[in-house]
Amino acid sequence: MTNTEKRSREVADLVKEHAQLVGVWNEAGEKALIAACDGIQQRAAEERVKPLLPLLECNAVEVRPCRLCRMRIALVKTPAGALMPVCLTTGLPHHANCPNVDQFRKKGA
Ligand SMILES: [Zn+2]
Repeated sequence: MTNTEKRSREVADLVKEHAQLVGVWNEAGEKALIAACDGIQQRAAEERVKPLLPLLECNAVEVRPCRLCRMRIALVKTPAGALMPVCLTTGLPHHANCPNVDQFRKKGA
């Protein structure tokens, strides 16, 4: 079974489970189902980016923990020559997932 099939099956099982639990469609169940599907998609995105993370690390100017949240980040040079902090667990710009992003913008991390 491919990963996509596995995830589709996970979603189908969630729908079935929800329908059996409530008997009818309701708003709370729908919200829970959407949250569960988001979780599945998030894991899928992380799986896709995982093989690229060592490359990111190799091309980084510096790899160190974020000064605000201690998450491991890679500082990579953008084509314009600026340094951009990228989260080494998600591959996303660290501005997108630093829990202390407000202080991040003020002080720089
Ligand atoms: Zn951080």
